Amino acid sequence: MSDNTPPWENKPAKQSELYIHLCMHNSCKEWGAYGFDGSYGVEWFCFEHRADGKKTPK
Ligand SMILES: [Zn+2]
Repeated sequence: MSDNTPPWENKPAKQSELYIHLCMHNSCKEWGAYGFDGSYGVEWFCFEHRADGKKTPK
């Protein structure tokens, strides 16, 4: 995270509006409503697979 990042760029609500993020679970096409901090940034999972986000190796 850079110090030059505008405050509004850090708001999760703003991000969800800007980016299409579907569930990252293998072969799942559901909307990823739950974000988790992963190795390459935020990883998104749907309600059904949100537990997978917590299991993702960091
Ligand atoms: Zn899913």
